[in-house]
Amino acid sequence: MKPDLLLICPLFPATMAQLDAAYTVHRYYQATDKDAFVAGLAERITAAATAGHEGMSVALMGKFPKLKIISCFGVGVDGIDVPAARKLGIAVTNTPDVLTECVADNALALVLATMRRTVFNDKFVRAGNWLKGGAPLADKVSGSRLGIIGLGRIGKAIAKRAEAFGMKVAYHSRNKQTGVSYDYYDKPLQLARDVKILVVACPGGKETERIVSREVIDALGKDGYLINVSRGSTVDEPAMVDALVNGRLAGAGLDVFVAEPKVPDALLKLDNVVLQPHVSSGTHWTRAAMGQLVVDNLAAYFAGKPLLTQV
Ligand code: NAP
Repeated sequence: MKPDLLLICPLFPATMAQLDAAYTVHRYYQATDKDAFVAGLAERITAAATAGHEGMSVALMGKFPKLKIISCFGVGVDGIDVPAARKLGIAVTNTPDVLTECVADNALALVLATMRRTVFNDKFVRAGNWLKGGAPLADKVSGSRLGIIGLGRIGKAIAKRAEAFGMKVAYHSRNKQTGVSYDYYDKPLQLARDVKILVVACPGGKETERIVSREVIDALGKDGYLINVSRGSTVDEPAMVDALVNGRLAGAGLDVFVAEPKVPDALLKLDNVVLQPHVSSGTHWTRAAMGQLVVDNLAAYFAGKPLLTQV
């Protein structure tokens, strides 16, 4: 008999096929009567799978007294209260490293597309406007000063790419990193004052909520660009929209939003923003590798082996 698995939300289709092959998968998101669904499974479930954005609430964890592992699709586990899970004896795993390169690639794509107005120019050509005259000039990318909030795996991969563009890199995180020569700032505000491009690559959650505050946005200023590939929660979104609309911020490249998939209406009307539907890890290779880690962590748990990527 296949072991039981609780699936909180839909995952990458190939991953769900692997899970269906190995487990009896109980789909929480499809249950119409959630209470009856939970009551029927409470004593049987020892493992769950979910996605980073969806997570699993502490209240729901508490309803499965035998739950031992939550295997999370994504590196950001801000949808899961990890210390609370630990107290309940539940291990949480995520999918680090395999997505780092793709997220960094997309961060650079957003830097380039926003500053060089790639999307605007594409629309300009399609609309036949080129026939009437040249497009407005854009901003120079190479050699600009770039700041990163969160110089972790993804932040470092972004920094490496920025160096190839001749950029001077600086960063803010809680701790100064060893083994890097980039300028360290212990406050995001000072960093924003000193850079032209600010890239947010730290985790989401309470600790980083609005780390890019109104003051930080104003410090970045009318010639500055904000790029966010972290979580929508890290930016004061109304303040950012206000600054973009009123010319107090030059542009923004955004992969994540506070109430995604809802995006503030004002942003949809702006030419100086490039908007992405939370797809920084969204390549065939990376999504397959993330799914494999979800599957491998569950397999390790059921085989009584050490977990591969426990948070
Ligand atoms: P990581 O290696 O753990 O790096 C996180 C970095 O953020 C660390 O340098 C950490 O340094 C810093 N940090 C943590 N808390 C902070 C705080 N309160 N203030 C300032 N800096 C803080 O994680 P990663 O693999 O690079 O991933 C980073 C994040 O990217 C994820 O958590 C996720 O939210 C986001 N992400 C987004 C996508 C997407 O599709 N858009 C895809 C993957 C990941 P200190 O500990 O020294 O502060």
